[in-house]
Amino acid sequence: MSVAIYPGSFDPMTNGHLSIIKSGLVVFDKLIVAVLRNPRKEALFTVEERVEMITEELQGAGNLEVDSFDGLLVDYCKRKNARVVLRGLRAVADFEYELQMANMNRHLNTQVETVFLMANDAYFYVSSNIVKEAARLGGDVDRLVPPGIARRMKAKLAATKGT
Ligand code: ADP
Repeated sequence: MSVAIYPGSFDPMTNGHLSIIKSGLVVFDKLIVAVLRNPRKEALFTVEERVEMITEELQGAGNLEVDSFDGLLVDYCKRKNARVVLRGLRAVADFEYELQMANMNRHLNTQVETVFLMANDAYFYVSSNIVKEAARLGGDVDRLVPPGIARRMKAKLAATKGT
């Protein structure tokens, strides 16, 4: 059985992530969406909220597990018995960073392969950061994230403004 891990921050999950997940489910027998616990990155949503949001959006989507992890990705792959890391590619800007990560992971563990998929071209320029930035300034991001996530973002941004 081919098991792939799709790691990332997903703060929050966008339609770009969703498009990669849906393609991943076609290519692999099982997909594990893994939210990285990264204390160095300031996030809008907690890891638990992100896991919950992804789980909600992808209910019934196929053989999918939503989880979180910290430490080295290759160690997490070993724990999960997964040989494949799935990453998404957007515009050329992603390429260099993704190449570095894939090479580092191969250096750390030659058993793990990184596979790249392209998102639907409608979401080529969509990133969690740009979506958050636009939403913070009152922009309409409804077509860039799933409806449930758009609602959660509005509520979260309203709550953080009040603090
Ligand atoms: P990170 O926190 O590692 O920058 P993200 O959580 O933003 O990563 O994304 C996880 C993965 O999904 C990365 O491989 C990223 O390139 C990919 N990705 C994010 N948004 C899109 C998109 N709109 N189209 C294709 N791939 C995407």
